[in-house]
Amino acid sequence: MNTFAGGPGGPSGPQGETANQRPLTAMLVATGTELALGRSLDTNCAFLADLLGSWGIRAARHVTIPDDPAEIARTVREAFAGYDVTVMTGGLGPTEDDWTRIAVARAFSCQLAYHPDIAEGIRERMREWGFPCPDNNLRQAWAPACAFVIPNPVGTAPAFAVRREGKCAVFLPGVPREAESLARTAVRDLVLGLRPGAPGAVRTFTVKAAGLGEGRVDELLRDILRGSVNPYVGLSAGMYETKVLVTVEAAGEEEAWDLAFPVLSEIEKRLGPHHAGSGEGGLRSAVAGRLREKGLRLGIIDSITAGVLARSLLEALPPECLAGAVSCPPGLRSLNAQNYLSAEGADLVMSLSSKSAPSPGKGPAADGKITVVTHIRDARPRIGAAWSRRRRAKGGDFFQITPVSGPPSHLNERVAALACFQLWSFLGDMG
Ligand code: AMP
Ligand code: MG
Repeated sequence: MNTFAGGPGGPSGPQGETANQRPLTAMLVATGTELALGRSLDTNCAFLADLLGSWGIRAARHVTIPDDPAEIARTVREAFAGYDVTVMTGGLGPTEDDWTRIAVARAFSCQLAYHPDIAEGIRERMREWGFPCPDNNLRQAWAPACAFVIPNPVGTAPAFAVRREGKCAVFLPGVPREAESLARTAVRDLVLGLRPGAPGAVRTFTVKAAGLGEGRVDELLRDILRGSVNPYVGLSAGMYETKVLVTVEAAGEEEAWDLAFPVLSEIEKRLGPHHAGSGEGGLRSAVAGRLREKGLRLGIIDSITAGVLARSLLEALPPECLAGAVSCPPGLRSLNAQNYLSAEGADLVMSLSSKSAPSPGKGPAADGKITVVTHIRDARPRIGAAWSRRRRAKGGDFFQITPVSGPPSHLNERVAALACFQLWSFLGDMG
């Protein structure tokens, strides 16, 4: 099914297939002056793109615009003309800057219509909440006459939708909880009703590469990445890990997997020892996988990252893999923390400390436990890629990060990511 020009996110349009085979395309619009000015982030479009993808609809474009009626009307016209599905969120509130109702009526050249039943619903809800109902709120009982109203069981702003010419445009409240709830229900029915039959699937599979920079991954996968269409293969670089994203468009789940499988296998093969598992969750979940595989419990001592490492591993590790985490100010005696974690059943202790590593033979290492010490010499380390490793016969293993130059931003996150990467490779080398 290597048929779609440009791959997911690329231009739409039939390439020899009938209109029915072509995946539906969507344009997603977030309205809100605070979003357009960058004061807060649009999360609705990302959510919607992912959800639409799970129904086989390709989100081809995301746009963020301010609360400006002319801009909204222009964008709605453009979206409706160019795409099968338009989903816009925001601007349905009761206040002066909520223009979506008026702007959409303008875009479709229709009047606004008053819905007394919705007005009554709004009054009722305000009574339940114990508030008087200001006249402002009753603005929400108006909708473009060419649209049908979609009741909103989780808030006061009803949504509405226009359906014509085999296309639809849906207008949802901006509050993410409300937009998401309505998207999963009313929008789903509406959008899937555009083309009855088995829903298609746009699926993305993730393969993780640890300890390789984006450039090296690019080199290893060059021929797979270049010109890939369906599956479309792209990279997403993170700290000490690079995600390889394999996106397929198919008629259904099974076909999606059949298309992706050979490409995923080849990528995994080429990454070799740097392959750090599949799926979301990053390196931390790869660490969790290796701990679980080996039946080990990890303890964490962290006086460097202000709790960033501890917090990120606490989120990712299941309880059976975690003995505890001690986040302490620099200078706290790490031997105390090691003894505590040892008593809590830690098989492995990762210590991030600006003090020197405990000498071999002391602490939990002496009674057969393994101690992984990530030792950072400089109290304000500058972290780069260089690190070396030493093994000590008696005192367990310890890692030493060699500080190299690097920008100071996100220092804690980078140290935590590096520590995770070291832990992951250490666990792999344990055999
Ligand atoms: P609105 O009805 O547009 O005024 O939206 C109500 C509230 O929902 C806003 O104040 C934002 O906090 C939030 N919101 C609106 N649009 C978005 C969006 N695209 N992504 C995330 N939050 C949003
Ligand atoms: Mg707004």
